[in-house]
Amino acid sequence: MRLHLASGNAHKAAEFAALAGATGLPVEVVPARGAIAMPAVVEDSGTFAGNARLKARALGKLLPAGSWVLADDSGLCVAELGGAPGVESAYFAGPQGDGAANLRKLVECMRGVPEGRRQAYFVCVLVVIDGQGREHEFEGRCEGTLRETAGGSGGFGYDPLFVPAGRTQTFAELPEADKNALSHRGRAWAQLAAWMRERGAS
Ligand code: IMP
Repeated sequence: MRLHLASGNAHKAAEFAALAGATGLPVEVVPARGAIAMPAVVEDSGTFAGNARLKARALGKLLPAGSWVLADDSGLCVAELGGAPGVESAYFAGPQGDGAANLRKLVECMRGVPEGRRQAYFVCVLVVIDGQGREHEFEGRCEGTLRETAGGSGGFGYDPLFVPAGRTQTFAELPEADKNALSHRGRAWAQLAAWMRERGAS
């Protein structure tokens, strides 16, 4: 089965391809590109789930009837910052959506914050539109803490600052398979995979 990914983010596409491969389900995650590129979406719902629905519907409109769509809306919530950047994670440092600038801003915001107040979690909401046009939602979270300085070159976005609970390496320092096994996206995907198995996919 083909799941059309409502995202222009190549890092997300790579993570979903790896997740789909590791799950062993007969599912291919197809990135939106070429003739059916991801359209621009104003992500103004104020929630991860709402934004994921907006993205899924925007791509769904471009696909033949009966197509399956997968959308991901995700971000990092930092307790010390009142939950920011949250749904604004992609645009923390400005509307251009510059991942390196977002990371620098987070380092600045957290400078000097003591050890016990550096908790954060990633959240990912997946929305699937099935072949009958019904929408299904799956959520995953990953708790952790933020380092003082960025470390590692893997992953994307805020990965170089985020250390998942129980580990000492950042998401950007961990092997890709370890990040996927622990991450918000991996956990949301596990929910989706369990749902697919219940429906008879194997
Ligand atoms: P979205 O594409 O609107 O869902 O925005 C996601 C943003 O959240 C990204 O641009 C990153 O800033 C951040 N983000 C989401 N997932 C991850 C992740 O796995 N690692 C690092 N940053 C992430």
